[in-house]
Amino acid sequence: MTIREGTAWSADLGGGARIALVQAGTFRSDAGTLFGPVPRFMWQGLVADEIDANGSLLQALNCLLVETPGGRVLVETGIGERSDEKMRERRGIQGPPVLPALRSAGFDPGTVDVVALSHLHFDHAGGLLAQDGSAAFPRARVAAQRMEWEFALGDNPRLQASYDQGELRLIEQAGWAGAVDGEAELVPGVTAIRTGGHSGGHQAVVIRGRDRTVGFFGDLFMRPWSANPRWVTSFDDFPLTSVEVKVGLFRRAVEEGWTVVLSHEADTPVGRLRADRDRYRFEPL
Ligand SMILES: [Zn+2]
Repeated sequence: MTIREGTAWSADLGGGARIALVQAGTFRSDAGTLFGPVPRFMWQGLVADEIDANGSLLQALNCLLVETPGGRVLVETGIGERSDEKMRERRGIQGPPVLPALRSAGFDPGTVDVVALSHLHFDHAGGLLAQDGSAAFPRARVAAQRMEWEFALGDNPRLQASYDQGELRLIEQAGWAGAVDGEAELVPGVTAIRTGGHSGGHQAVVIRGRDRTVGFFGDLFMRPWSANPRWVTSFDDFPLTSVEVKVGLFRRAVEEGWTVVLSHEADTPVGRLRADRDRYRFEPL
């Protein structure tokens, strides 16, 4: 099965590699938390059009479908479909979760070979499970960092809040079996790179076709303003690491002309990075 038009964005990367962005619904996050250490006067103008009366912003759940001659990779799974009504309301969850979103893009979830997750926070790993708690991608390797599983199922109360441990335990066995250590090629042309920062075992995913490379930096680069390496969220568990690894990844993306896809941007999720004084700037395609 090939990727049909009608997805949010798709591109031919050359050499038989194709990529499509599939948005698995949206949720809402507190704006102040998203801007972390940045004072309000510096960011309020950027979100004046989208902030609501509760001070929250719309966050898309961006997933990537990658088709290569060596296999099909899904990057990220969103929140999934197992949240109860109370949770849906509290987190402002709307729109189709990953399984129906994939199907309407013409993609059979049963044919995914690898599910790569930037990290295991609830809004990235929730879609690993179907509504009945079984594996949503039954034949797929679950490729998150081994270190991320250790952090996710650990007992540090500061780190636990962003992980849904009960849900992760349902898929834990596949998680350990498919886990990645450091940098690894998942299928030819698709590489996971451990970064840490946003979470202890966070990873970036780089997709290389013959003609074009796409970088997906997970929640190190969720919205356009995250292009400033020092603008990290309060959700970042290891913020100083985030700043350091963002500088390295962004420099590489500029030098090698990568297309980048943002993890939580609804309207302009695809673009390029440009160097800008002591920081970077995101330019939508
Ligand atoms: Zn996230």
